[in-house]
Amino acid sequence: MAQFRLLKVKKILKRVNDLAAEMRALSDEELQGQTTLLKEQLAAGKTIDEILPRAYATVREADYRILGMFPYDVQVMGAIVLNQGNIAEMKTGEGKTLTATMPLYLNALSGQGAMLLTPNDYLAQRDEEQLRPVYEWLGLTVSTGFRKEKSQENQKVKPAVKRKWYEADIVYTTATNLAFDYLFNNLATNKDEQYLRPFNYVIIDEVDAILLDEATSPFVVSSTPILQSNLYHLADEFVHTLHSKVDYKLNQEQTAVWLTLHGIRQAQRFFRIDDLFNDANREIYRHIVLALRAHFIMRNGHDYLVSEGKVVLLDETNGRLKKGVKVSTGLHQAIEEKEKVKLTQNQRVAASITFPSLFGLFNKVSGMSGTVKSDEQEFFQVYKMRVIQIPTRKEVIRHDYPDKIYLTTRQKLSEAIRETIQLHNQGRPILLVAGSVENSEIISELLLDQGIPHNVLNAFNIVREAMIVKDAGQKGAVTVATNMAGRGTDIKLGKGVVELGGLAVIGTEMLPERVKKQLAGRAGRQGDPGSSRFYISLEDAYIAKNSTKRFKKYYRRLQKKLTNKNLKSLRLQMSLSMLDDRVSANQRSSRKMINDNERALKIQRNHLYMKRTQLMEMPHLEKTTGRWLSDGISLYLSQKNSWSRDDVRRLMNQHFTYEVIELPADLKMTSDSLKNYLENFCQRKLETKAKMLVNSQQLNQFYRVSLLAALDQSWMDQMAYLSKLEMIVQPWGSAQRDPKFIYQKKALIAFEKMFKKAKQQAVDNLMLSTISLDKDNNLIVHFN
Ligand code: ADP
Ligand code: MG
Repeated sequence: MAQFRLLKVKKILKRVNDLAAEMRALSDEELQGQTTLLKEQLAAGKTIDEILPRAYATVREADYRILGMFPYDVQVMGAIVLNQGNIAEMKTGEGKTLTATMPLYLNALSGQGAMLLTPNDYLAQRDEEQLRPVYEWLGLTVSTGFRKEKSQENQKVKPAVKRKWYEADIVYTTATNLAFDYLFNNLATNKDEQYLRPFNYVIIDEVDAILLDEATSPFVVSSTPILQSNLYHLADEFVHTLHSKVDYKLNQEQTAVWLTLHGIRQAQRFFRIDDLFNDANREIYRHIVLALRAHFIMRNGHDYLVSEGKVVLLDETNGRLKKGVKVSTGLHQAIEEKEKVKLTQNQRVAASITFPSLFGLFNKVSGMSGTVKSDEQEFFQVYKMRVIQIPTRKEVIRHDYPDKIYLTTRQKLSEAIRETIQLHNQGRPILLVAGSVENSEIISELLLDQGIPHNVLNAFNIVREAMIVKDAGQKGAVTVATNMAGRGTDIKLGKGVVELGGLAVIGTEMLPERVKKQLAGRAGRQGDPGSSRFYISLEDAYIAKNSTKRFKKYYRRLQKKLTNKNLKSLRLQMSLSMLDDRVSANQRSSRKMINDNERALKIQRNHLYMKRTQLMEMPHLEKTTGRWLSDGISLYLSQKNSWSRDDVRRLMNQHFTYEVIELPADLKMTSDSLKNYLENFCQRKLETKAKMLVNSQQLNQFYRVSLLAALDQSWMDQMAYLSKLEMIVQPWGSAQRDPKFIYQKKALIAFEKMFKKAKQQAVDNLMLSTISLDKDNNLIVHFN
């Protein structure tokens, strides 16, 4: 099957190649004229696929005339896969940046836009600047989807400016930027604040990094702080009283922790409650879960750092600081409590989205990377994209040596350093890879001890990193880096290095197979010589965290033998590879669960955004407002079976007015007459408000803001509820049989309630708000 797909790609390649001579013969003007021609063909009903050969041949020739680079056949093949909405596996250094020019141009011809997403701003800007001349020469517009001048970073970008970015035919940006812009775009209170147009086509560069490694942390836009609970502190104290195994247990992978029956009783004593799992004690239970995770799963230096009195979450696989990670679930605060630093304010989530659902909004999604084949099943299941391997232009002659396995970290590192010295003496450039920021510093110290000059990259400064990585291929260069550091930057070999054997990648830690391949691939690009070797110890975090009981026993037996040799047993190698498989399987299933939950959220989010857009676009809101008011009043009245005059007064003072109320003496306490009375009351109050406003347009704006705010407030509550629900409904949690089902059922019930709450909230917003006009007669609404 795979063979067949590649064959199909080659067929199309031939049609592109057949046009090469024709394109070469064209004058510059004629070549530029192809854009108009192709657009006309599209307009006349030809499909994207039909015009592909001509479009690709055009870009190819333009790439050559403007940049002096003529895309190789393998690049055109990659480009064809990208247009299919699939993933092209192309090794590092094969020229993915240039490859993307073809599908971006082709898919932008329809006028609906095309985007390329890179792992960071630096790469997006680099690629955009390199390729802008080609696109502009061909008559297309191009932009970066973010502000380039870093000096103005803190200034808010005006919607009009963003609109201009996103209106460009081709946009280079990051998935993070896009996710946040999408969320803010949908939080706007009127159309002028919006800037996105419907998503059309996207290429995700380094697609595995974005879709697999980062897929589990949703992007979150936070809003007003909510009340801080002192349960963090209590739960933290409680956790200090617990004993491992007796009160709580961890799963083998140390990714989950839960209370034992004994621990549950302990909690009930500590918090003086009868039943920890009673709905009334949900918050207590949640805080205990958080404190347990903060103490027994999150590790300082690996999962987070404490610096300057602040807790910063780290992305474990690459040592980078995590951006936009949810502070709403409270894990952050639980860690702060554990580390005894000041608690950050809890924020309400105003909007959130994960990558899978963000990309679900595009007509066509494609990706490229050097290391995706091993995860092709997941890409297909989750994203319906196929992975197609593109052959390298030249044969890969890099030598990947088998792992060397040691018992202890010390042995492993000293052996790795020994090889480093040996290769360094030959003058070969070396990339030493550390598994965490902490370890990169230890390695750096060891090198200093040996008097070897080197650079350390720990993924804090992306631009500086790229500069250093560029030079990592020079003779005698030694570069220490964490996994992700400098990804996307090509390491070109310096003078005389080919003769010496090229770049040597030396890994110093057990890492997931995909990450290993990615790292090895930094050497031996474009047919260069090179090598890779990984040094592993049984103390490595990855192993310690993921190994089975049996493995641990085996490890202890080895320890007794006090061996410091390279461990070669077949059994050990098998165990390690099984361990790797198991971890990938676990990660896959946790991504799957998040995806499942996100799917429920996505349906709700779409529904909500649709409602919002309706409200935003409706020219007259009087009727809708009347309906919301009437429904809101009914909902309030349905809270009680029978009403006394006092009850009515209390209700009104909470939700309708702060003034003293004189109820009419003859008011009947039936729901019909109460409803009638309240509706009239609201009507009169709104009429008074209207008199303060300049015109009916302003009145409309007041209605709009009140209803939108009501919707948003209830949506925020809903999302806070969902993320708490996610914490509570976990597969390892107590006796729940099917957590996914429970989550989705509860999520749906809550969503239905949400719209009711929104209507009640709308009553409050319309009635209790105060309005005023500023000196330019602009409307200002204060909600209470
Ligand atoms: P990748 O992203 O696949 O790792 P890059 O896009 O960074 O690779 O390209 C690697 C290098 O190869 C760059 O310096 C680029 O300019 C060069 N390159 C790419 N395609 C061509 C080509 N067709 N002809 C000449 N040089 C090329
Ligand atoms: Mg690249």
